[in-house]
Amino acid sequence: MSRFDFDLFVIGAGSGGVRASRMAAGFGARVAVAEAARLGGTCVNLGCVPKKLMVYASSFSSAFEDATGYGWSRPPASFDWAALKANRDRELGRLNAAYRELLGRAGVRIIEGRAQLRDRHTVEVAGARFSAERILIATGSRPVRLPVPGAELAITSDELFGIERQPHRVLIAGGGYIAVEFASVLRGLGSEVFLSYRGPLFLRGFDDDVRSTLAAEMGKRGVELRFGTAVERLDRRAAGVAATLSSGEVVAVDLVLWATGRVPNTAGLGLEELGVRLDARGAVIVDERLESSVPGIHALGDVIDRITLTPVALAEGTALARSLFGGTPTAVDYSNVPTAVFSQPAVAAVGLSEAAARAAGHDVLVFRSSFRPLLHRLSGRDEQTMMKLVVDRASDRVLGVHMVGPEAGEIVQGLAVALKAGATKASFDATIGIHPTAAEEFVTMRTPVG
Ligand code: NDP
Repeated sequence: MSRFDFDLFVIGAGSGGVRASRMAAGFGARVAVAEAARLGGTCVNLGCVPKKLMVYASSFSSAFEDATGYGWSRPPASFDWAALKANRDRELGRLNAAYRELLGRAGVRIIEGRAQLRDRHTVEVAGARFSAERILIATGSRPVRLPVPGAELAITSDELFGIERQPHRVLIAGGGYIAVEFASVLRGLGSEVFLSYRGPLFLRGFDDDVRSTLAAEMGKRGVELRFGTAVERLDRRAAGVAATLSSGEVVAVDLVLWATGRVPNTAGLGLEELGVRLDARGAVIVDERLESSVPGIHALGDVIDRITLTPVALAEGTALARSLFGGTPTAVDYSNVPTAVFSQPAVAAVGLSEAAARAAGHDVLVFRSSFRPLLHRLSGRDEQTMMKLVVDRASDRVLGVHMVGPEAGEIVQGLAVALKAGATKASFDATIGIHPTAAEEFVTMRTPVG
């Protein structure tokens, strides 16, 4: 019998922590997971899931508009924020319960409360101490506010889902996933939306054609883009907030959202006291086995700040459980991780952007197509879909797939398999399209961009 209460003590029941817990228990390990908030973590409660439900909600306004070109009269539609919130909260409650059941069925003990490490084998939660052979830090990340006067007058994505009434004029600060997604969501729901981003074009790191196409299309949908500006101060007004931008413009809104990045949740856990090395942003530094500088203390997901996406945390959780308890040492392959931004229109990509491919020394051929999708021939909507392939000239390997347009995430997920399998442009060319789809364009682009 082990001298420890548990073989693995997991701190944080988000995507990565739950996956590692369940799989480790499945391999026969005695596992506990501590959670201070709701089961499922950011993705289930404050991120991917409620966000995607809001993306669906917001997509109906344009669908109603598009329908008129197809002979439908426009319904006298109105949107009820409270109804959406109630339905969404009910779904999240169902998911929380499902997580509880899944963990329970796997034999994982759930311990409610905030955990702190006392030594490398001891965790304390709500005054009770538990010993474990190994400890996994899966505490995720939290949104940051910028240090400007009045910063506290703005909310972050953590509070957004709790708002009781629809904001009618909104300023979003930032130009990453959250800024772009919520700008689209709130615009689709009928709010006036301003987006302030410090750089010349949002979604830094994405392919430049993706960034410029999306900016043009979001502009057409009425999002007021303020690139090259910073939010300098926020002041309370009788009705709402006045935001002063570095351009001198003062935007009067009833809600300001900080979407300016997230930082790892490592403060107050007792990690540094144990000698666990953190990087400058506070992320736990781990090796390829997801083990920190202290043997037996592991970490994964947002708290290691590698690729902060749920499916990556899931892959890390699987790899860790297999390595520690499944007898199969497994390393996560971080190459060709596909990603989507659920903007309107949507963005998705896998592999290298054109700029990143060139920077990595590839001689590239670029294939690009911009077109008005068939749907919009009758809807009358002036919206372009953009698809792009970045190909290594020497090997013919497809290095990157990029898309802006409806269902981009659904389409690029499939192409990510092709890239993982090392597909060449010749294999794309040899693939027969499905007609008429937008996706067929990916296998019919023949002439490289000059
Ligand atoms: P991101 O890292 O995506 O974007 C942060 C944005 O804030 C960037 O535009 C950045 O600008 C800007 N910013 C950062 N610091 C400052 C500063 N000091 N002053 C002004 N601007 C600043 O973070 P998000 O908060 O949007 O999202 C967090 C993470 O959550 C994402 O990176 C992603 O990993 C994950 N996520 C994934 C989603 C998905 O998969 N669909 C959806 C939502 C979130 P710059 O680029 O110039 O540095």
